[in-house]
Amino acid sequence: MNLASYASNPNLSKGRVFAEKQSAFRNDYQRDRDRIIHSASFRRLQYKTQVFVNHEGDMFRSRLTHSIEVSQIARGLARSLNCHEDLAEAISLAHDLGHTPFGHSGQDALNDCMRDFGGFEHNLQSLRVVDKLEKKYASFAGLNLTFEAREGILKHCSLRNAKKLGIVAERFINKSQPSMEAQIVNIADEIAYSHHDLDDGYRAGILNFELLKELNLFKEIYSELSEKYLEVKGEQLINEIIRRMMNLIISDLCEQTKKNLAKLNPASPDHVRASPAIVGFSFSMQENINLIKQFSRTYLYNHPRIQRMSSEAQKTIKALFHFFTTNHDKIPKTFCENNEDSLERVVSDYIAGMTDRFANQVYASI
Ligand code: MG
Repeated sequence: MNLASYASNPNLSKGRVFAEKQSAFRNDYQRDRDRIIHSASFRRLQYKTQVFVNHEGDMFRSRLTHSIEVSQIARGLARSLNCHEDLAEAISLAHDLGHTPFGHSGQDALNDCMRDFGGFEHNLQSLRVVDKLEKKYASFAGLNLTFEAREGILKHCSLRNAKKLGIVAERFINKSQPSMEAQIVNIADEIAYSHHDLDDGYRAGILNFELLKELNLFKEIYSELSEKYLEVKGEQLINEIIRRMMNLIISDLCEQTKKNLAKLNPASPDHVRASPAIVGFSFSMQENINLIKQFSRTYLYNHPRIQRMSSEAQKTIKALFHFFTTNHDKIPKTFCENNEDSLERVVSDYIAGMTDRFANQVYASI
């Protein structure tokens, strides 16, 4: 690995909360990644909704496949920018661990339920999973990841919560940036979901070529391809267009980030943290990205079929919260052992950890 001076370096890591002996054959960021892959929350991503709930069909993205796509994009970027690939991979694979069942509507519902008890934020929950909820080690709770992995996992955080979290959340108070690898993963996440949602939306029959041609970038590639490949249609055509869009977007990101690096010339990861955001698109490409997001909101996330799933999901989450806060003897014992949190927080952790399928089963049984 050809590491630049601004890249995170496991030998200069800010370390783990509980000191551990070095491994003889893996660097600390590899160990972080391995711990995440072996965690129970990682396995459960398989049955958690990205946009389409699991029972809508097997061909859509789940949180697991989304996380793998993010990691693939982030690793490619990290390598081309001489950043630490293992760290980028670890953050990518963990970035959605705190997501509730049923995607964003599940999270909104749980946040509503928790309004008077400190609220629910999925990024904060991802950190809570790796810091506390995973139970794999005898000497500490959580996975005891390095500071750099934890910093990257905490992508957003409210000021109120940042004040309680200490050094890992300091940047939300003093408005600084995270490491290069964390910045890479944030944008890799955006690139992944904005494109695969178009793809899933097309296969679900919600989006079509006429609608997609409202996106300039899509339209340009479409015209170019339909002149060149007269026979290519449908799924093959859309896959080729989306692939090319992603290529253009990722190339733009790399070029612009290299320009930003040349201008700011950060000498260390802490210099990166003190600089303005370094990983970013050119102005015109950022506009394209904003248009894609706006497009997905208008035609996909607000589509009656998705909205119907959302309201079902909200109903389920709220019913589960009510049931377990009034019947706390029904919460598995492992959730209550050695736990000084409020009953509501324990219930929120329990529900947030559920897969879509499990949440539906429990809902049906109550
Ligand atoms: Mg994500």
